[in-house]
Amino acid sequence: MNSQEDNQDYLKISEAAKLIGVSQKTVYRWIVSGDLEATRVRGLYFISRAALKSRLSNPGAAAARPEIAAKAELMKCGSCYQIISSDSQIGGVCKTEGCEQVICTQCLQKDIHYCLNHRPSTQQNWRAAEEKLQTGEYQLLVKSTNARQRELIFENRFDARLSNIKTLMHPESGELLNIPSWERVCEKSDEQAQLLKYLRKLFLDAATLARYPLNASLHYRLMPGKGQKSEPLEIVVQALSRMDRMVQQQFDSEPLSADVLAAELMHYTQELDREHIFRIVVLASITGWDESARQIIEGSKPGTAFFHRRALVYLYDLEKGELVYNARDERTHGYADLITPTLPDEELQEVIAAIENEMIVHDSLALVDALAIFPYKRGLVEAAYKKLSETGRYKTLILPGNGAALVRQRN
Ligand SMILES: [Zn+2]
Ligand SMILES: [Zn+2]
Repeated sequence: MNSQEDNQDYLKISEAAKLIGVSQKTVYRWIVSGDLEATRVRGLYFISRAALKSRLSNPGAAAARPEIAAKAELMKCGSCYQIISSDSQIGGVCKTEGCEQVICTQCLQKDIHYCLNHRPSTQQNWRAAEEKLQTGEYQLLVKSTNARQRELIFENRFDARLSNIKTLMHPESGELLNIPSWERVCEKSDEQAQLLKYLRKLFLDAATLARYPLNASLHYRLMPGKGQKSEPLEIVVQALSRMDRMVQQQFDSEPLSADVLAAELMHYTQELDREHIFRIVVLASITGWDESARQIIEGSKPGTAFFHRRALVYLYDLEKGELVYNARDERTHGYADLITPTLPDEELQEVIAAIENEMIVHDSLALVDALAIFPYKRGLVEAAYKKLSETGRYKTLILPGNGAALVRQRN
């Protein structure tokens, strides 16, 4: 027997399927169930002709039964539904006992081990993640619901902060810009379209919108007044998170890194010179920024920090509540106060916003539950309940044995 024949004695899944007239999925099922012997090399399965022959001569063999062979169908990933056209796309099979759904290599790389039907519940995911946080395997943990809260709170806080500012010095020209109304110069946007894609949905209801971060952004465009020679000044506030992970796992456990930052920097600075505008850019990461990202902005030594003559860039770390910027750049230093972390009087507003967002999915929220959901002190949550009751949209009830609860008022 020469070596060429030797090679031909082994078949790939696709070849074996074609040879005996069944689907690739069927061959794969046999391999997974142990009915067909196969060797795995670099992620590819190889089946010897001898093994295939013995499988077919087995009286119970599915291939011998035409009704099963007739069911030959396209093999798809059980999680993302992409069509599997080559063996190398097969990453594994759903981890649920008895389930034969194939999981593609791309899904497996994203840590997906279950088909859509057997995907663990949100609660199971969170419990497992909380354990990993305890053991130190995860350095942080932000659940998808908290991510949306963080984003909303940050946006509201920033909006509120700016609304008190009537005059702002242009970072480049030094001219004073008058801002009669921030609302009128603000454009809000988010990535709902992207979220729909990740969720594989065609609509988003209020509850879903409250459950996932939207990577919302605020875009203020300040035009210089009559007789002023400044270039337009734009203030961009962008919340950032890994939406795909938030959808797949219902949480994220890593800060954003330099590659994400580099893409954002490119996006927000590339047309500045051509369009003659100046930008103050605030990039707020819901899971914070890692060291590699911080170094780009701060610089490891003088002269190494990011610099653009028409842009000031700040990183906001929503995990640690920190503002990161190049303190050596005097221009940047001056506007840092505008973006500083929470002032004491803003904290109550923050809690109120968080509770209102949570109330989108509840008719009532017991104080004990609120304290379990939010990282805020009891007194602060009680104060927020009181404020919310004063709006008339809610009332606070004392439930016997259950303590206080915020209840939505019915009209
Ligand atoms: Zn897949
Ligand atoms: Zn499954």
